[in-house]
Amino acid sequence: MFGGGSITLFHVRGIRISVDWSWFVILFVVIFMMSRFYEDLLGPSASSVTPFVLAVASAAGFFGSILLHELGHAAVATRNGIGISSIQLWIFGGMARMDREADSAGVEARVALGGPAVTALIFVVLMVAGVIGGGWHEFSHAALIETSSGASGVLAVMAWLASINLLLLAFNLLPAFPMDGGRVARAIAWKVTGDRNAATKFAADLGRVFAYLFIAGGIYMALTGAILGTIGGVWLAFVGLMINGAAKSASLQTRMNRQIGTISVADVMDREPVTIPGEISIERALDEYFLRYRWPWFPVVDAAHRFLGLLNRDAADEVPEVSRAGSTVSEIVDADRGLFVPDDTPITSLLSNQNLRRLGALMAVDAEGRLSGVITVEQVGRALRDAQAIGP
Ligand SMILES: [Zn+2]
Repeated sequence: MFGGGSITLFHVRGIRISVDWSWFVILFVVIFMMSRFYEDLLGPSASSVTPFVLAVASAAGFFGSILLHELGHAAVATRNGIGISSIQLWIFGGMARMDREADSAGVEARVALGGPAVTALIFVVLMVAGVIGGGWHEFSHAALIETSSGASGVLAVMAWLASINLLLLAFNLLPAFPMDGGRVARAIAWKVTGDRNAATKFAADLGRVFAYLFIAGGIYMALTGAILGTIGGVWLAFVGLMINGAAKSASLQTRMNRQIGTISVADVMDREPVTIPGEISIERALDEYFLRYRWPWFPVVDAAHRFLGLLNRDAADEVPEVSRAGSTVSEIVDADRGLFVPDDTPITSLLSNQNLRRLGALMAVDAEGRLSGVITVEQVGRALRDAQAIGP
């Protein structure tokens, strides 16, 4: 909806911090609304610039609050070995982009709670400082945006930021996946059932219930001006639409994962690959295989068809011509353990396999270590695409 056009602001420990143009809508609304509030609060005696300066300070504080929230997620993620490439701020708040998903329910919950923990801390610090510096009465009334609170401008900024962080905390902790509370709900369901896909499905369904509540509530507020007002109501309805969309696609993703999860290497591999017997000479291998098929490598098997390793063209070429007839293929095979996988391996676990990417293929072996086939990167890709086609 608000794609493209993000501006990089700066980097924090290698994480790119950027804002989407839609973020400026938020800043504009905050500055516009808050400068009117500060005008009323300070009265006609104050200079005409002060309310605007306070409003800009409020907007900057709001920006800082959301950024620190996202950095809270990022810090926990990084500590658990999950890289964060960027943090983007847009009209619906912040987004920390993780390189991969959490691999356990515990990590998922901790990363999800990292942001709210920072927001809670900001709230407590602002409140304690505000109450000590200005008194509970002034602080609490300024926090409710009451112009008669008698609070100073600085105290009013602190009070507003405290209340906005409290609101942010409460809102984020609603179990509306993919918001933080929804991620915690998923982590709990994951822990209880031990099934990540089922947990995501549960959290996504719950998220969609909240999405409909936000849309209905947002439309009501937009029409009546209640609670969040007209603009706030429209915003809430859009938040609902966004959550609904994200929850829906997460739910489809789990269905696809489940289908793909049942596909193993044996289901898609080539079952009759060309193999070189380990006992033949390197000379014969070059003549009968490499010159004939022009492939860069072949799997080598022994008499019982057990996988011995890979014979690379380069390795065969490097053997001096005089000794090619006298030495066998099995003497120069690459027997790296990473070259083969059990043929009952689910193909989803091959997605990040470095050897598959480098070589373009992996050898598949059965329970007895016999070569049962070869699986190529194309076959994995095709299987994923097919599963996706039946998926939704
Ligand atoms: Zn968050």
